[in-house]
Amino acid sequence: MIKVFLKQGREDAPSRGHPWVFSGAIERVEGEIEAGGIVDLFSHAGEFLGRGYYNPRSQIAVRLLARQPVAIDKAFFRGRMESAFALRKHILSPETAAGATAEGGPLAKAEGGPLASDPFGQRATSSGAGATNSCRLIHAEGDLLPGLICDTYGDYLVLQVNTAGMEQFRDEIISLLKELLAPTMMYDRSDAATRAQEGLPDSTGPIVEDGSSATGAAFPDLIEIRENNMRFLVDVKQGQKTGFYLDQRDNRSLIRGLAQGKRVLNCFSYTGGFSVYASLGGAAAVTSVEASAEALALCKENLILNNIPLDGQRLVKADVFQFLRDEQDDYDLIILDPPAFAKRKGQVKGAIRGYKDINLYAMKRTKKGGLILTCSCSQHIDAGLFQKILSYAAVDANRQLQILGNWGAPPDHPTALHHPEGAYLKAFLLRVVE
Ligand code: SAH
Repeated sequence: MIKVFLKQGREDAPSRGHPWVFSGAIERVEGEIEAGGIVDLFSHAGEFLGRGYYNPRSQIAVRLLARQPVAIDKAFFRGRMESAFALRKHILSPETAAGATAEGGPLAKAEGGPLASDPFGQRATSSGAGATNSCRLIHAEGDLLPGLICDTYGDYLVLQVNTAGMEQFRDEIISLLKELLAPTMMYDRSDAATRAQEGLPDSTGPIVEDGSSATGAAFPDLIEIRENNMRFLVDVKQGQKTGFYLDQRDNRSLIRGLAQGKRVLNCFSYTGGFSVYASLGGAAAVTSVEASAEALALCKENLILNNIPLDGQRLVKADVFQFLRDEQDDYDLIILDPPAFAKRKGQVKGAIRGYKDINLYAMKRTKKGGLILTCSCSQHIDAGLFQKILSYAAVDANRQLQILGNWGAPPDHPTALHHPEGAYLKAFLLRVVE
């Protein structure tokens, strides 16, 4: 086994269970290493800290998989996956989980934990039979499987492998997903920007028999999914992320519960997730603003699919920054769910300006007593900094606001306690007092 030794005094985080080791913390490597190879991590004094994979090209040189010297093989991945699937049981009812059969698939058998009741009451995923058939099944570090994402859209699985280390286990992972979930089909969406940093080319396409990804095989252009008994078309091939923002499910539920009679502005609407929820929650009018024509077209389809009359809807293809500056109307409820403005640490300064700008203009366009759900999915901007940005925006907008609640992603996107960086999504519900 190849051994990686840390510099003196750099063992604190990994010895607690933090899965990342930065290249600057490493003193020496004993053995011939290839990108993605399995290594054992030791403190400067030679104490074993964990087993993981190494990539000399990446700033995060080691990602730990286990804290014990266990074999990293198919059985290891099976254990991690079974634990991950058990967690999701309360979201996916057994009847609708990929692979669930009359005898019950692994999600039917798994011991599901109770869904924690939510402080705001209205935000939880409804767990009625078949209400929701799509969620994240494997959430990388959050499920102690760094570099691996798997989402289920009905009976279809979408796989995203983000690191060279995880790529080494692609065959085992695909074979386990087939064995445990028996999906109708799997699609590879391994095209996240992080792959370039890992020295990996993108890999996308339907996953065919031998486990490799191949373009050309038949895979539906759009998959219809159910979320809290609403219907959405998901473009797994061309859409953003793996096709749908599954991480906003519970925040969308919150909006449904708040929308009655309100004039709603949904900024960065993508395919209309919040717009559908707000409309079915009884909004008086909904304006969706989105830069991508394809996403906006799918937003319209999703409204129609949910039998929402289009006369109360305004679909605007625009840059939100410009739209908010030009807009003269005031709203009762504004949703701001922009893309991550800071994807890297070096982008934080610019991102702060961006978040402040859209929040400032949104605050100006909100009626007294009105609400703003404002989100950030930038990993490098934590909840504390985001709240500061919001307060600077309020100063410039000359408004007084209250925080009614602040949430993250739902439980199918868990954060490992020792990996706070995993808590990327922040959503604040604000009320404009005056
Ligand atoms: N709230 C959505 C997800 C939003 S993702 C949901 O629940 O599904 C962010 C969206 O913002 C993407 O669709 C992206 O195309 C869009 N976008 C990015 N920059 C934009 C800009 N400057 N103006 C308008 N839309 C933008």
